[in-house]
Amino acid sequence: MKQFQYVRPSSQQNVLAAIAQPGTKIIAGGSNLVDLMKHGVMTPDKLVDINRLPLRNISDIKGGLHIGALALNSQVAEDKLVKSMFPLLSQALNAGASAQLRNMATVGGNMMQRTRCPYFYDVAMPCNKRSPGTGCGALEGFNRMHAIFGFSDKCIAVHPSDMAVAMAALDATVLIQGRKGARRLKFTDFHRLPGNTPELDNNLAKDELITGVEIPVNNFANHSYYLKVRDRASYAFALVSVAAAMDIQNGIIKDARLAMGGVAHKPWRLTAAEQALRGKPATAATFEQAAQVAMQGAKSFKDNAFKLKMAPATITEALKHAAGLV
Ligand code: SF4
Repeated sequence: MKQFQYVRPSSQQNVLAAIAQPGTKIIAGGSNLVDLMKHGVMTPDKLVDINRLPLRNISDIKGGLHIGALALNSQVAEDKLVKSMFPLLSQALNAGASAQLRNMATVGGNMMQRTRCPYFYDVAMPCNKRSPGTGCGALEGFNRMHAIFGFSDKCIAVHPSDMAVAMAALDATVLIQGRKGARRLKFTDFHRLPGNTPELDNNLAKDELITGVEIPVNNFANHSYYLKVRDRASYAFALVSVAAAMDIQNGIIKDARLAMGGVAHKPWRLTAAEQALRGKPATAATFEQAAQVAMQGAKSFKDNAFKLKMAPATITEALKHAAGLV
């Protein structure tokens, strides 16, 4: 591993000053970054440890819930407010990683984790995300885990987070602090599609810090479900995952939220399928129709055509669970 400097500022101001310097990276739980440094995929000159910042709180706020960027994944998953207001988020976090990892990984770090595309991790292979302009090893290589939506000819990787899929479905907002002030970004606008710049995973500027996430109150707590299909139940990244949430009254779907993981470079919100659900009876037939709507525009590669069948089946199943039909 390349040698690096390590600093641990105790104020937000000093963190922002430190990360403005070239060659720096923020570290919190380190559960992805340290792996990437060991593999030589990321080679920062200096790590800025932000664990001294007071960003671990989870609090009820007017109109929703605030979750600090340094709140641990395990802490959020087990939090009473989260479990009662947004059980979907708790389920997604528990599906996301082993207990050991959940005890280290933070909310901000979960959002910032990088793809698990094997070509990205192998520094001997071409990868536009790791080394722009070198090509994409997965395009003609082994691409079983890769995208079926929103990819480009530069990159077909998927985002690995489960938490982010639930956050996208729940209309969360990301709170960001820079040296010139704070800003808010819709969670669905935080991560990027690869386009011609696959090296950029998200819209956070180099000198900005995620300070937290806010989730607005909703009427979905009684009818939500996170379903993750993976190769091993003992923790693996999603082949396909679905965050499903509905407001059902007298058997009719008043409102719905749907997002998928394991299918795109960012959490893939299914707004057309949500629209197809609204006003319909909460039945298996309705859910199957919405799943077909969700798949419009999907395209597969050599090894991942199975996702074209797995994804709509997972959407239907997640909706059935959310509605209490299974
Ligand atoms: Fe790299 Fe993206 Fe291609 Fe994977 S899919 S090799 S991350 S450019």
